[in-house]
Amino acid sequence: MTDSEPAADRLRSIPSVDAVLRDARVGALAAESSLPAVTRLVRDVLETTRQAVRDGEAAPDAGEVALRVVGRARESWNNWPRRVINATGVVLHTNLGRSPLSAAAIAAAAHAAGGYSDLEFDLEPGKRGSRNAHISRLVADVTGAEAAMAVNNNASAVLLTLSAVACGREVIVSRGESVEIGGGFRVPDVMRQSGAKLVEVGTTNRTYADDYTAAVTDQTAAILKVHPSNFSIQGFTHTPELAELVAVGRKHNVPVLNDLGSGTLLDTRQFGMEREPTVQDSITDGASLTMFSGDKLLGGPQAGIICGNRELVERVAKHPLARAVRIDKMTLAALSATLLAYLREDAESEIPIWRMISATPDALEKRARHWREAAGEGEVKPGRSTVGGGSLPGETLATYVLAIGGKRDPNALAAALRRQVPPVIARIHEDELLLDPRTVLPEEDAAVLAALAGALETSN
Ligand SMILES: *Cc1c(COP(=O)(O)O)cnc(C)c1O
Repeated sequence: MTDSEPAADRLRSIPSVDAVLRDARVGALAAESSLPAVTRLVRDVLETTRQAVRDGEAAPDAGEVALRVVGRARESWNNWPRRVINATGVVLHTNLGRSPLSAAAIAAAAHAAGGYSDLEFDLEPGKRGSRNAHISRLVADVTGAEAAMAVNNNASAVLLTLSAVACGREVIVSRGESVEIGGGFRVPDVMRQSGAKLVEVGTTNRTYADDYTAAVTDQTAAILKVHPSNFSIQGFTHTPELAELVAVGRKHNVPVLNDLGSGTLLDTRQFGMEREPTVQDSITDGASLTMFSGDKLLGGPQAGIICGNRELVERVAKHPLARAVRIDKMTLAALSATLLAYLREDAESEIPIWRMISATPDALEKRARHWREAAGEGEVKPGRSTVGGGSLPGETLATYVLAIGGKRDPNALAAALRRQVPPVIARIHEDELLLDPRTVLPEEDAAVLAALAGALETSN
């Protein structure tokens, strides 16, 4: 601190914009990017510096300001989001971008991005076409629905559907399903936004089909079922089957809307997990509209899919909000390619999240042992991976992890791993750092080992 020196004197010793621009490192930055952009950044950093000096800090010299300028540029003048390696064992890690795409989906998105396409153009008559026609047929062929449309994400799928089907009228929801899905998606709030009136029935733990019947009035627009994606209630519970709700709906001529959340197309029991309701079952059981995410257990890009009754899908597609939540062409291309893998019944071998979920403990142990050998440190132990991303709450998969503990500070090692290029994200459990091979793509193994070597060297 330079309290003895008056603030005015300290402010005068702050370097000028030109002095900072003369620094060789700032000059190199300007050559890489542009002089006007760097000049603006220098002014910005100097303004922040002036404020700090007014608050009592000592004035930095030109070299110090230059370092701050280069640091700021390095943080934000990069392609973003940065690629990281997910060694947490959480397959659908929302903070890490949920599902990685299949090679076919990546290629399709790049292809759509690099040129013009028949996105809304019907080639045969040479006229304007619909962005939804193709995806509607494809979803129909894969799920058995009559028709479908895709929007920005499942939250917008639910909001749009409720707005189009139930604005100004009542929607019946079980108290046990009037929940928060996470990240600000709360059923009562979405309902309010859509203009629909929420009618809660039953209790938190038990709701029966009769509760829905008793709540039907001439104002009822729909029955909404919400899949409890990120929690489970155990013990004295009851929830009616979808088919029972459909029976209530048919009797009173009320559509049943089913928010599946994850919406898997594959039966999760084949991988030793609980059964997550499938989209196909929702259609077969008679839901009027089924809504699900593109980047949860579908393993595709962020998207929301609305499928089911043709007239209702058309009504939803015509609602003004549909334009506000419409899906982009790169996403549509990736979504189509992802759905094609299901059509070919190749999802398990082509779609990264299914390759991860279906990886056997034996194969994972082999990779963990290979990591242990290369790292020269740690211990291979049995562990548990999770699906995450609001799918299969409480469900875990048997895995093998490389655990590094002992004299090492696991937090320091985790931080050192995050500073590698590419950064590796690990998990800490009981004072050990765990690296789970399940969520590391096989082609990333070499990068994990290089990062681990670098982090082990610097964190001690
Ligand atoms: C995840 C989820 C949503 C939100 O889906 P996004 O694709 O993340 O917008 C809505 N409802 C349920 C039941 C969910 O699990």
